[in-house]
Amino acid sequence: MQLFKDIESLQRHLKQHSGKTIGFVPTMGALHMGHMALIESANQQADITICSIFVNPIQFNKQNDFDNYPKTLNEDIKQLEAHNCDILFCPSTEEMYPAPVEKEFDFGAMATIMEGEHRPGHFRGVAIVIERFFELIHPDYAYFGEKDFQQLAVVKALTKQLGLSTKIIGVKTMREASGLAMSSRNLRLSEVEKQAAALIYKGLMYIKENQTNQSVQEIKQAYKAMINASEYLETEYIEIADGNTLQIITDWTTSDYVVAFTAVNVGEVRLIDNMTIIS
Ligand code: AMP
Repeated sequence: MQLFKDIESLQRHLKQHSGKTIGFVPTMGALHMGHMALIESANQQADITICSIFVNPIQFNKQNDFDNYPKTLNEDIKQLEAHNCDILFCPSTEEMYPAPVEKEFDFGAMATIMEGEHRPGHFRGVAIVIERFFELIHPDYAYFGEKDFQQLAVVKALTKQLGLSTKIIGVKTMREASGLAMSSRNLRLSEVEKQAAALIYKGLMYIKENQTNQSVQEIKQAYKAMINASEYLETEYIEIADGNTLQIITDWTTSDYVVAFTAVNVGEVRLIDNMTIIS
């Protein structure tokens, strides 16, 4: 695997391989098997797999969250090499943003609810960094986890708005044996918090299994009660939405593609997850 820290040398290298298809996997590092599922999808589909590790400051709305974001670069490199990633791009903030970015986007209601509502400015930051990466790398394919379902929808909307030819591919959420969605932020959990956080998956499964006999309102209440019964967990939101438009629904019959979305605070650590309920 080749490691590039600056744009110029990355682009010089890519020029030598023009004509080959590029599969791009943007990450913020602290890599786990969820990220590796994206790398493997890229390996299967594209000639060259590029992974980026960049903790994008402008998508964080809390300084504390940014400062405490886990960093495990040496381990990340080993994992990427073991999974046959061709290129790792680790730019600095100065490389990515030589000047302050003023750009605003409008993705409609899709980006102002759930993560958009609870993390103001988050999707603007995501859109800016993805546009920048795409303009530097020109990937044929880019891979995003369904774990961040709303982000995947926003990135699809972004490429459509910009008229880009990059194909956005969603990859299934990888989970621990307990059901807990793999996440870099899990590194910040104690063992007991990690065990408690497995309730998020159980709660989502409860919704899936009981949607035929409870109203949307009742099931959301039941989920909250399940999660908040743990002394370690506090539900930030649980929403039931259409999987295509992400519009929140209050009645199961409104949509035939229904996804449950949640954010849960485990002490200082905020976890998100989702599950398809009806499809
Ligand atoms: P992050 O490093 O958290 O920004 O994530 C980088 C990419 O990996 C995003 O597209 C995430 O959706 C994806 N990802 C994170 N966790 C998982 C997971 N458990 N399963 C599949 N993809 C994931």
